[in-house]
Amino acid sequence: MSYLKKKQWALIPDSVPEVIRYCSKCGRKSNFINSEKFRINANRNNIDIWLIYQCAKCKSTWNLSIYERINPKNINKKLYDKFLANDKILAKEYGFDVTIHNKNMSELILENMDYHIIEIETKEYCEKENEQSIEIISEFPLDIRMDKLLSENLRISRNQIKDMFDQGLIYSQDEKKWLKKKVKNGMIINIVISHD
Ligand SMILES: [Zn+2]
Repeated sequence: MSYLKKKQWALIPDSVPEVIRYCSKCGRKSNFINSEKFRINANRNNIDIWLIYQCAKCKSTWNLSIYERINPKNINKKLYDKFLANDKILAKEYGFDVTIHNKNMSELILENMDYHIIEIETKEYCEKENEQSIEIISEFPLDIRMDKLLSENLRISRNQIKDMFDQGLIYSQDEKKWLKKKVKNGMIINIVISHD
């Protein structure tokens, strides 16, 4: 009998999502690719800031509007420098920003995105003996089901995960029916370690 240390799984997407929107050149909806490049357009004293996307079929560009007619003085200097430098992390953050994409009428394609996990062992001990608690850290809105996540990363089949869930060997205090739901940032899963 022993107490294990709490773990965290940070889910890191390996790429940025494409979006679906109407392409005026193709004359229908198409997939657009995040170019990870920003464009700043001066408009008298104000500026527009866009993240540039490109139609996967015809290569025509489309601008995701981030700021419209804003005075550059009202933008944080560090942030402004990142726009100028085409900061890749910033392009990823906007690439996953559901609110901004909704405003721009573009739909994120979040299914089947590749990701990796950074496992962190914390200094805190689990509350119960012979249990491993794992906190899910998912800052990006990934469309991954919990059972798939656990199956892939604990390397046990989805059926086994379901059996463990039914037997209460894998549970969450936050929610009861979480197994088939999407991953949620901050969710904590507890796994009872068997001794067979
Ligand atoms: Zn097109």
